[in-house]
Amino acid sequence: MKIAKVLINTSVKNLNKVYDYIVPTTLENEVELGKRVVVSFGKGRASEEAIVVKMEEKTDSELASLGYRLKEIIEVLDDISYIDEERLKLAKYISFLYFCNVYDALKLMLPPGTKSKSSSKSLQTKQNTLVKLTKTSEEIMEDIENESITSAKHIKLLTFLMYNDYVLINDIIDGLEISRQIITTVEKKGYITLEKVDQEPDFLSELHVERTEKKEPTPEQEYAIDKITEYVEAEEYKQCLLFGVTGSGKTEVYLQVIEKVLAKGKNAIVLVPEISLTYQTVNRFVSRFGNNIAILHSRMTVAKRKEEYKRIKSGKVNIVVGARSAIFAPLDNIGLVIIDEEHDGSYYSQTTPKYSTKEVAAYLCKQNNATLLLGSATPEITSYYKAQNGIAEIITMENRPGIAIMPSIELVNMKHDRVMGNVSNISLRLKEEIEKNIQNKEQTMIFLNRRGYLSYLRCNDCSYIFKCPNCDVAMTYHKTNNLLHCHYCSHVERNIKKCPICNGENISSTTIGTQRLEEELKEIFPSVSILRMDADTTITKDAHQKILDKFRNENINILIGTQMISKGHDIENVTLVGILGVDTMLGMEDYLSSERAFSNISQVSGRAGRASLPGRVLIQTNDPDNYILNAVVHNSYLEFYEKEIEYRKIFGYPPFIDIVLFEVVGRNFYNVKSEIERLYTILSSENSNTYKVFNPKAPFIQKINNKYRVNIIVKTNLNTNSYNKLYEKIKIFNKTKKNDINMIVTRNPIFIG
Ligand code: ADP
Ligand code: ZN
Repeated sequence: MKIAKVLINTSVKNLNKVYDYIVPTTLENEVELGKRVVVSFGKGRASEEAIVVKMEEKTDSELASLGYRLKEIIEVLDDISYIDEERLKLAKYISFLYFCNVYDALKLMLPPGTKSKSSSKSLQTKQNTLVKLTKTSEEIMEDIENESITSAKHIKLLTFLMYNDYVLINDIIDGLEISRQIITTVEKKGYITLEKVDQEPDFLSELHVERTEKKEPTPEQEYAIDKITEYVEAEEYKQCLLFGVTGSGKTEVYLQVIEKVLAKGKNAIVLVPEISLTYQTVNRFVSRFGNNIAILHSRMTVAKRKEEYKRIKSGKVNIVVGARSAIFAPLDNIGLVIIDEEHDGSYYSQTTPKYSTKEVAAYLCKQNNATLLLGSATPEITSYYKAQNGIAEIITMENRPGIAIMPSIELVNMKHDRVMGNVSNISLRLKEEIEKNIQNKEQTMIFLNRRGYLSYLRCNDCSYIFKCPNCDVAMTYHKTNNLLHCHYCSHVERNIKKCPICNGENISSTTIGTQRLEEELKEIFPSVSILRMDADTTITKDAHQKILDKFRNENINILIGTQMISKGHDIENVTLVGILGVDTMLGMEDYLSSERAFSNISQVSGRAGRASLPGRVLIQTNDPDNYILNAVVHNSYLEFYEKEIEYRKIFGYPPFIDIVLFEVVGRNFYNVKSEIERLYTILSSENSNTYKVFNPKAPFIQKINNKYRVNIIVKTNLNTNSYNKLYEKIKIFNKTKKNDINMIVTRNPIFIG
């Protein structure tokens, strides 16, 4: 008799326990390792989704000797298996390293899925329902203002649709957490229509791609290409860190190495930070390799992603390009994995399993005897440290191709401006340089650190800052539609006229945002063209690219933007970059703040002078002696690295140890409090000094979405022993924890609130 061993999709307290089910003869040809099946489970015999992790034969007498009857598998959900023994091992590794269920790790490797065949039909039709506005944005804004629409959810739905052109009903239900019922109500009110569509637009065909030929590599590029090719051909696991200054031609290296990989009959995965932000990068791969590429990104619908998974699995493509999760694409015969801009925070998953893409990629490459290539001008401190200690080979590129040189970088002391009586946000130096650029018909980018310039709403009478009712944070103010918005729970408030504390009506927005800066620039330079790229102007799917195209093609004088202008594009005529609001980045929020600041400021600086014209960068600050800023000015990653690594060593931070963050979350404050204390006791008892437990601490934001949170930080050596120990403790805590409490465990989190 055939037996399938399965992991069950339910948060059973018995972590990772495998259950046996009989494979009925009718399903014998369908059940196999890695497929999702439906089984009945537990006392209530509820139908549960499960994944087959092993197949076995058992004789009748073996079955009889069990003393109870095994149940049968009810249904098989997948027609293709995406998981083999190797993938199963990878899932177990992830489960171990990030303290999650093997089931959750396996799910990363499956295309987004259906619950069961019977329900999959209705899902199919829902997936292909488009939600469209029937009124213009102006009409909707008017209705919001005159209070014809009052429900916060309705407003949320409509404002989302105002900024997004191709919205499927599931994107709303899943992404915005707005129910079908609400959608129907808004439809009945006549604001939207639901339209069935057969096919989705094709991402590839939307990219207007011309074929490009490879460039004659520079000597540095040639060395890099040869070295990496050598490693790929050796068919042994190897890690390389391509440490090349911004604009040194790393992407060209990737392209030419991939060509060699394909020539060897092997396949490649290329990871880029966030597809919408790196349109130009993706475009460069498509223009070189045509439709031999599958693209996976977060804005894809379920159906589309499934299609791409099938294309990859069937061997029709040799290259997968995508964001973080593309590391799990079902590509066989991998010879090379590239992680571009490896310092980017998006390579850390923020939902369970909270994995680090680089660590997962390293394991995957080991399994495949493949080469892992990390590329950055400002590598993560941890990556550089590991490379220096023999885990990766460092390949350096110090020059830009052709006659392009690194920009000159200057700090502008804003204290001087104030002495001079300049109260504007634009320093006199920057103003002077912008003027030069306008005269020379060269382009300028002005970068605002987003955090320094978030706009809030404030009561001028009592100084109250408008806070989210569900979270312990100030809400962001959007002037264009007079909305207050919480970035943590999406709560929206409209038409604010009175202060809830003192009833005052003297309300205004705080600090400058990109909008205010735009107004200021228009006052100083009334006749110049200005574009703005920020969260407000880029909600639509291809807005980034449209703004950049316009900026480039129409030789617009100035582009203002937040962090998002620092990535993945390359505009020849940009010779001046102004950087504003860096001071808030320099404070010590957590041990990674300095690294983030250095990397961000350097990357933005690198936007200047990418072609024949030399570039200038002006950084405005009140702290011109700051070591981070000075390393940026000297264009010296190593100057920064040496200081930073010393600091980590002295104070005990990664890469010298691992941090494990435990967050206890729940609606009832007293339960959270008592549970965190219980967790502390469990963690502290008999740990035989394999790790160090710190006292429970309230995070920076103590309440999100009406849930309270308290943290415990554990510092541990990375060894199996201490991990196993922590595992035991987690099990003990989970078995006895209160039902309304959640515990989230993160290894080496990138934010410690
Ligand atoms: P990075 O990825 O290191 O920031 P890019 O690959 O974007 O750098 O290259 C910067 C610019 O130099 C691009 O415009 C690119 O087309 C150009 N470039 C790269 N390699 C060469 C080369 N060998 N010859 C001429 N131009 C090149
Ligand atoms: Zn909120």
